[in-house]
Amino acid sequence: MKSAGDQFGREEMTMTKIGFIGLGNMGGPMAANLARAGLDVTATDLSIGAVDRAVEAGCTRGETVAATVKDADVVVSMLPAGAHVRSVYMESYGVIANAKPGALFIDSSTIDVDSARAVIAAATEKGFAMADAPVSGGVAAATGGTLTFMVGGEANAFERAKPVLEKMGKNIFHAGAAGNGQVAKICNNMLLGISMIGTCEAFNLAEKLGLDAQTFFDISSAASGQCWSMTSYCPAPGPVPNAPSNNDYKPGFAAGMMLKDLRLANEAAHKAKAATPLGAQSEAIYALMEAAEKDGVDFSGVMKLIQGAL
Ligand code: NAD
Repeated sequence: MKSAGDQFGREEMTMTKIGFIGLGNMGGPMAANLARAGLDVTATDLSIGAVDRAVEAGCTRGETVAATVKDADVVVSMLPAGAHVRSVYMESYGVIANAKPGALFIDSSTIDVDSARAVIAAATEKGFAMADAPVSGGVAAATGGTLTFMVGGEANAFERAKPVLEKMGKNIFHAGAAGNGQVAKICNNMLLGISMIGTCEAFNLAEKLGLDAQTFFDISSAASGQCWSMTSYCPAPGPVPNAPSNNDYKPGFAAGMMLKDLRLANEAAHKAKAATPLGAQSEAIYALMEAAEKDGVDFSGVMKLIQGAL
C-alpha cells in the first residue's frame, strides 16, 4: 500500500491488493465496486457461482481463503454470522494464519459483539490491524456504493480502512474501539424495530378510529410522534410512495434480517445486564412475523400482522 500517491491517496489506492471473502447478496456487489474503482481484487466464496459472478465483474478468482489473502494488503469479509467469521479468520486455513505481515482486515458482516472482539483480539495478537465495519443499507446500497459503514477499531485501523470503505459506501463513521461498529449497528436496528412496531400500531389505531392514513401522517409527521419509520418508510400504504407498504410489503429490509439483528441486540443486552424490554418484545413480534410469513416480507409488514392479515 506504500507509494507516493497524490493528496487524495489515489495512486496508493489503485496499487492496493484486496482479498475479498463472502460474495453473497451484499459481498458480491461490494467486491464488484472495489474492482470497478480500479483496485486489484481477488475474491472467494464457498459458492462457485458467486465467484464466477465476481470474476465477470472484474475480480480475480480466489481458489481458497489462503490463496485469496496471501498477497492482499487489505482483506474484506462479508459473511453470514459470527461462527463463519471466527472460522474464516481463526482456523488454520484462514485469514490470520495465511495473510502477509502488515495486512489490514475489515469484517463487514453483522455479527455478535463478542465474536467481533475475539477475532480482532486474535488478529491484533499476531500483529495485524483489524476493524469491524458492519453496514446499514441493503443490496441496493451495496450495488450503488452508498452503504453506511459503522467502524470499530483503533484509529490507525480506521484511517487505513476508510479509503477502501469509501469505494463501497458514502458515510463512514468511526464508532470507537473494537466491536463498537457492531454495537452501533445492533442498537440502531433495535431502535428501528421498536419504532416501526410503534408506528404500525399508531396507524392501525388511527384507521380503526376513523382517521385516514394520509391525514394522520400529515399531522403526526409535523408533531412529536415523527420518526424515520413514519416519514421515510411509512408502513401504511399511501403517504410515502416508494415505501414497501405500496409494493405489497416486498422487501426492502426483510423481517428475517430485522429478527437477526434484534436477536443479536438482545443477546448482547443479556450479557451486559442492560434492560431492553421493548427490544425483547420486538424480537418476539418479529419471530411471529417469521413464523407467519413464508415468502419474505418487509419489516414494515408488522402492519399486516397487527391487522391479522399476514
Ligand atoms: P449471503 O448469505 O447472501 O452471503 C454470505 C456469503 O458468505 C455466501 O455467499 C456464502 O457462501 C459465503 N460464505 C459463508 N461461509 C464462507 C466461507 N467459510 N468461506 C467463503 N465464503 C463463505 O448474506 P448477505 O445478505 O450478503 O449478508 C452478509 C452479511 O451482511 C450478514 O452478516 C448480514 O446480516 C449483513 N447484512 C445484510 C444486509 C442485506 O440486506 N442482505 C444488509 C445489511 C447487513
